[in-house]
Amino acid sequence: MADVDFCVVGAGFAGLTAALRLKQAGRSVVVLEARDRVGGRTFTELRADGTWIDRGGAWVGPGQDRIYALMAEFDVPSYKQYGRGESMMVIGGKQFRYTGTVPRTLNPFATVNLGTAMLELAQMCKTIPLEEPWNAKKADKWDTISVAQWLDHHVRSLAARDLLETAIGGTYTSDTSEVSLLFALHQMASGGGPQFVFGVEGGSQDSRIVGGMGAVYGPMAAEMGDALHLSAPVRRIEQGDDQVTVRCDDMTVTTRRVIVAVPIAIASQILYEPGLPVDRSLLHQRMPSGAVYKINIVYDEPFWRSDGLTGQSAAPGTPAPVTIDACTDAGTPGVLCVIVEGPTARDMCALDDETRRGLILAELANRFGPKAGSPIDFIEQNWTTERYSGGGMISHAPPGVLTEFGPALREPCGRIHWAGTESSAVMCGWVDGAVRSGERAAAEVMAAERVAVA
Ligand SMILES: Cc1cc2nc3c(=O)[nH]c(=O)nc-3n(C[C@H](O)[C@H](O)[C@H](O)COP(=O)(O)OP(=O)(O)OC[C@H]3O[C@@H](n4cnc5c(N)ncnc54)[C@H](O)[C@@H]3O)c2cc1C
Repeated sequence: MADVDFCVVGAGFAGLTAALRLKQAGRSVVVLEARDRVGGRTFTELRADGTWIDRGGAWVGPGQDRIYALMAEFDVPSYKQYGRGESMMVIGGKQFRYTGTVPRTLNPFATVNLGTAMLELAQMCKTIPLEEPWNAKKADKWDTISVAQWLDHHVRSLAARDLLETAIGGTYTSDTSEVSLLFALHQMASGGGPQFVFGVEGGSQDSRIVGGMGAVYGPMAAEMGDALHLSAPVRRIEQGDDQVTVRCDDMTVTTRRVIVAVPIAIASQILYEPGLPVDRSLLHQRMPSGAVYKINIVYDEPFWRSDGLTGQSAAPGTPAPVTIDACTDAGTPGVLCVIVEGPTARDMCALDDETRRGLILAELANRFGPKAGSPIDFIEQNWTTERYSGGGMISHAPPGVLTEFGPALREPCGRIHWAGTESSAVMCGWVDGAVRSGERAAAEVMAAERVAVA
């Protein structure tokens, strides 16, 4: 006789959502979380001054209906991302200010090249079947090349190339030579196309959650009560004929079915007994995550706003490649978020804290003026070295993987079911995708057990 109907491994948004929906459906469930906190790749820090900082995933946008549904369920409002003023692009040390998504102040060749490439990407995205991108008409062709190879052939302007490299490579926190074009097209298409991915207003960075992501995952965890076990890394999952045994260091759970909701990049840290089917097992070896620092820098005031700037900037090749205003809805204190990704982030891992901080602040002072060099706080989160994330922001597929192993992304392996943002056909890679995957996996295990009972 199993201890519980279902066991969920991982209490990020995917696992918490799955567990919550199972509990709401009247099923008994246990959640095992490796860390001493929930939230996974989202992590809200409450500050002594009553404000909050999102150290991981933070922004939400239109079309992300499932995270918005959770927010409504727990009565958590959102607020619009600050967007008044000009954004900035720094190319070859030269600053260009602009409004909207695409800068028109670059040289005309770069502007046209960038616009055309964005249009082409949008058109290609429209041909991707979200549930099975490996069946896209040109799947084989697009999965044999990397994003970098596509950029080489389609983006001749160096400035446009740098910007697209930063934008696309930034999402996968890796060099674009490491990422399959088909995977990138699918991930972008799953959110509605490149305009959504790169956009602020109306795009993926349209809004923030009042109280941060923790305002949603906190009450979800509270709902789980003592069914949630923290500091319980799952080491081993053993499948029998009619139940599964899930083993942590100090605890063992027997259950009808298990939902594994950990990032694909680290799913093979768990020992599966008997071994997983070949395609799933090899998939675990083929979807790595990249390197990323998210740094929230706190100032008395958001001084850039009074200088007519949004705080958003892109400066490829510098120690602060991407910045964005990350103030709470109150507007003070000023919080500027710096994202450092891919090869630059890897290089930064080798520096001591003081040197890294010095480089980033000097770059910001250069860009936003001397005030940027003197913050009251510098809160750095290096996701690259987080054992239970395996890097960030998401696991990606290198060339050849999606067409060969894609169907294994969601296919249950006996009594083991898979959740996690990487398994979502819609909003893959976002918190919303994680929520959708949790809801899908919860429905899946309940349906499977209904069949088993009948
Ligand atoms: C820096 C950064 C910025 C981001 N920005 C945004 C953004 O603005 N908007 C957005 O929508 N998305 C953003 N994302 C992506 C978003 O955070 C993720 O898509 C989402 O949080 C993934 O949720 P998940 O539940 O699938 O996985 P996770 O959040 O990774 O949850 C997996 C859980 O499993 C646990 N775990 C791992 N191994 C084990 C084990 N063996 N046993 C038990 N538990 C285990 C982990 O500790 C973790 O809690 C960002 C991510 C990063 C890193």
